[in-house]
Amino acid sequence: MKTSDDNFAYSVDKFADLQILRYKVKGFDSLTLKQKELIYYLSEAALHGRDILFDQNGKYNLKIRRMLEAVYIGYEGDRTDAEFHALEVYLKRVWFSSGIHHHYSTDKFLPGFTVDFLLNAVMSLDKSMLPLSEGETVAGLCNKLFPVIFDPEIMPKRVNQADGEDLLLTSASNYYVGVTQQEAENFYSAMKSSEDETPVMYGMNSRLEKKNGEITEIVWKLDGEYGNAISKIVYWLEKAMNVAENSKQKEVIALLIDFYRTGDLKIFDEYSICWLKDTESRVDFVNGFIESYGDPLGLKASWESIVNFKDLEATHRTEVLSSNAQWFEDHSPVSSQFKKSEVKGVSAKVITAAILAGDLYPASAIGINLPNSNWIRSIHGSKSVTIGNLTDAYNKAAKGNGFRDEFVYGEYEKELLDKYADTTGDLHTDLHECLGHGSGKLLPGVDPDALKAYGATIEEARADLFGLYYIPDLKMVELGLTPDSEAYKAEYYSYMMNGLLTQLVRIEPGCCIEESHMRNRQLIAAWALEHGAEDGVVQLVVKDEKTYVVINDYEKLRSLFGQLLAEIQRIKSEGDYETARALVEKYAVKVNTALHSEILERYKALNLAPYKGFINPVYTVVTDDENNITDIKVDYSEGYTEQMLRYSRDYSNL
Ligand code: ZN
Repeated sequence: MKTSDDNFAYSVDKFADLQILRYKVKGFDSLTLKQKELIYYLSEAALHGRDILFDQNGKYNLKIRRMLEAVYIGYEGDRTDAEFHALEVYLKRVWFSSGIHHHYSTDKFLPGFTVDFLLNAVMSLDKSMLPLSEGETVAGLCNKLFPVIFDPEIMPKRVNQADGEDLLLTSASNYYVGVTQQEAENFYSAMKSSEDETPVMYGMNSRLEKKNGEITEIVWKLDGEYGNAISKIVYWLEKAMNVAENSKQKEVIALLIDFYRTGDLKIFDEYSICWLKDTESRVDFVNGFIESYGDPLGLKASWESIVNFKDLEATHRTEVLSSNAQWFEDHSPVSSQFKKSEVKGVSAKVITAAILAGDLYPASAIGINLPNSNWIRSIHGSKSVTIGNLTDAYNKAAKGNGFRDEFVYGEYEKELLDKYADTTGDLHTDLHECLGHGSGKLLPGVDPDALKAYGATIEEARADLFGLYYIPDLKMVELGLTPDSEAYKAEYYSYMMNGLLTQLVRIEPGCCIEESHMRNRQLIAAWALEHGAEDGVVQLVVKDEKTYVVINDYEKLRSLFGQLLAEIQRIKSEGDYETARALVEKYAVKVNTALHSEILERYKALNLAPYKGFINPVYTVVTDDENNITDIKVDYSEGYTEQMLRYSRDYSNL
């Protein structure tokens, strides 16, 4: 499944509803040796936490993973057999989810092999390969784990959010043991004081257990729960501290180590503040108990890590835009009374991921906004970044998947997209975020919420149109943001195709469009289609019973976008609710049923995996005769199964 323009295999594997991608650590070779070393040590610290998440996601997950891995490695029967293949798929899913529940829906997934198959396979193995506890027999192990694997009634959901049920007793995650929801809520509300203006995130780094009628917190720290994994993490963090780029970064790492040693949440807050103030270092990382989506009460944080470094080129792009913010404001087609006399652009930081771990692996976010503590955010702010090389890998992998061949009209359009779409897609996002939302002003006395339920769609349309209007501008070529004056056509084509056709793949049959970004895209595309109809600017063309977008006049399309931008800004500035409502209801909400089912059918035939995740590169230390580190090499040849088995072998700490 090699799909790329530069012989790099972005797509690695596909099974169940998952696709595994690989990302490129662009720019790693140009880092200094010290920075590479720092990344290497932080990567080791990241990988050593792997087992923590498996255990947090469910108390049998580690044993199940190890039993399945033993079968996978030691099975001497027919490895081409359908049951063995089903076991392989199931194991790959367990690796992906760090447990037996779907990473996204949190529902338990069931194996495609039989109890007999697994029983025979386990029984035929040498006992030493199996994850037996002291005194446990093989039959005992099977009796304990098989119902958890096969019975749909046992631990059916990792995170239950159903209103009216005891969310803790019905959730399979391992954050509460024998504690009812009421007991946990009482336990934590007793800790909080309304006078405390800087409250720690109570319960964030512990399991709550009831034993002999008493409720206690089992804290995750060096000499406590997960201590074996945490001691390895601390070992590598200490090495990282010695090659830190500056004293601020050194302090960040020292505070994190202190937190892992003590489990003291006050120290975690100190660490968070120090971390968010470290904006000068090129290398950055997250390593710890961070997000609480896995706890129905939103208290307990799952373990995750990412190591990254600033993408100077992409960050430069957003800095160029924001430093020219006034020029863009002054030259926009918006009526001058709605313009800001003084406008500030936002400069977004773009980072390159070097390693993903825990709850960011293999499925990862493409942006990070931390810390999560409310009082820290309101007093000290937060660090917000986008992960450029992951987005890039998504784009590159999508190239060979048949999507463009199916929905793009002709060779001319396909070539446009191949040549420019990655660049112009990123640029449109930057224009939207760095300039679009910040442009324009409300007239005095206008209520910012005047557009009510239509406000979000109008606001997104305003930001999108600002970007669409400026992408063709020669200023873009002048600033070095597009390669030439043709590039914008790629964004225009993909925007219109998405807004009129392909975004419908995310809408269930019979439903209308509700999400405000999707509404905004259809609003703009459908409005431009209608208003350019007389001149044939954009058309929907049917060829071999398939509908396509054709753009006949790109320049006129730009002036239509400019016209709509001026009108949308007027609506916003004046708080013109009636016109906002009329526009959104007419263009943005309704879906043509026949066209919708055509698009859904064509999409389904492509057989694309809805969920994606990433495997990591492999870093290897190069030393000289005296054992001094002379370089760190990055390698991309490892496969998904290889990587997972290696991690299970080398980073198995619990
Ligand atoms: Zn937006």
